[in-house]
Amino acid sequence: MINGTIMNYYLHCKRQCWLFYNKVNLEDNSEDVHIGRILHELKNDGKQSEIAIDNIKMDKITSDYVIEIKKSDADMAAAITQLEYYLYVLKKKGIERKGKLQIIEKNVAEHKINVIEYSLSVEQKLERLIHEIEDFLEREMPPKAVLKKNCKRCAYYEYCFI
Ligand code: SF4
Repeated sequence: MINGTIMNYYLHCKRQCWLFYNKVNLEDNSEDVHIGRILHELKNDGKQSEIAIDNIKMDKITSDYVIEIKKSDADMAAAITQLEYYLYVLKKKGIERKGKLQIIEKNVAEHKINVIEYSLSVEQKLERLIHEIEDFLEREMPPKAVLKKNCKRCAYYEYCFI
C-alpha cells in the first residue's frame, strides 16, 4: 500500500522508492535519519504527537492545517506532494484541511513555511501518480542507481555505490 514516504521517495528517486517498498531497509544507518528522529523528539518535547490515520502519519493536525515538518528543503516538490497526499487521504474521509510545510534547518533561525491549498487539480494529479506508483512497484527489480546531487545523504548510498 502506498504511503506518504513511498510517494516522497518515488518523486525523489525511483530506486529509493523501490528499495524502501521492498524492505531493503538501511534507514537506521543514515545520519540524516537519526537527525530527523532527534528533531522529531525535540519538537515534540519527548511526547508522541504524530497522528496516524490508515497509511499516513502526520506530524500535526489542527482545525485548519495538516502540518508536516522537514529538516531541509532539498526536495520541496517531493515534500509538497507527500503533504498533498495526506490532504487527499483525509479528504476521502470527509476531513478537509490545508497543508503547512515547515522547514526547520540546522543553524537557521527562521523557519520556512509553505501553505498548500487542496484543489481538484491536485486531486487529479495525485490519482494519476498513485496509479503510476502502483504499476512501478510491481517491477521485479529496482531501476539502476544513477548518482545524483543528494545521493551521499541517502541511507542507500553505500548499497547503491560502494
Ligand atoms: S543513493 Fe541515490 S540512487 Fe541510490 S537510492 Fe539513494 S538517491 Fe537513489
